[in-house]
Amino acid sequence: MGFTYMELTEAFHRSAKLQLCAPHRCGVMRLLLVEDNTDLAQLTAKALTKAGFGVDITGLASDASQYISTGAYSAIILDLGLPDGSGLALLKSMRSRSDATPVIVLTARGTVYDRVQGLQTGADDYLIKPFAMDELIARIRALLRRPASYLGRLLTAGNVAFDPIGKQMYIMGEPQFLSARELAMLELLMGRIGRVVPKPFVEARLFGTSEDVHSNAVEVYVHRLRKQLETLGATIEIHTIRGVGYLLAERKS
Ligand code: CA
Repeated sequence: MGFTYMELTEAFHRSAKLQLCAPHRCGVMRLLLVEDNTDLAQLTAKALTKAGFGVDITGLASDASQYISTGAYSAIILDLGLPDGSGLALLKSMRSRSDATPVIVLTARGTVYDRVQGLQTGADDYLIKPFAMDELIARIRALLRRPASYLGRLLTAGNVAFDPIGKQMYIMGEPQFLSARELAMLELLMGRIGRVVPKPFVEARLFGTSEDVHSNAVEVYVHRLRKQLETLGATIEIHTIRGVGYLLAERKS
């Protein structure tokens, strides 16, 4: 015996038992799960509930929009492909209203383009399907711990973008590959663009505090990163402020 898509959706919505309440009244962190694949949604909701979250589910963008407007959620888990609209459009409208609720995007589309689109639109994190429930839970917890000022967002300067979650640099949207320490330095400088970052700060970030670091180790990495940026055609550059540290700025052409 088969069911139509509508019957399944209706049954799903009935079983989801949507209950809205403000986080302080519920006493638990409440999450909104926007996912139209009923099996996946129920499986995910079960895992999240077990992890101690309150979970509401919807498979429709229009419903999601209403639920989100109540402001009842600590975070939103958002599928991008929904039957009545796109998750990205939903996210875009949230951010245009200055709704900064953390959003984790779930996507089957693992392409660089989609990930960059998601982050540029204002997602704080993304998971590519199929994903492990433990990972989703860990990411949600990490997101809820993060200070609001550092939520998501690509760091951008000139034609360079840096994804702090995926630890990936892009130039004109194309992924570029750097060593772990070059990436760490780039992230540090891009997060403080136009400001001088003291050398000891760079050293601590790159090498930790316990390691025995050669005195010119930071210079070596700055030199390498500069060369890489130049070779890759980046429109940003690293200035040395003698006796103080480093400053990243857009190149004046
Ligand atoms: Ca979907």
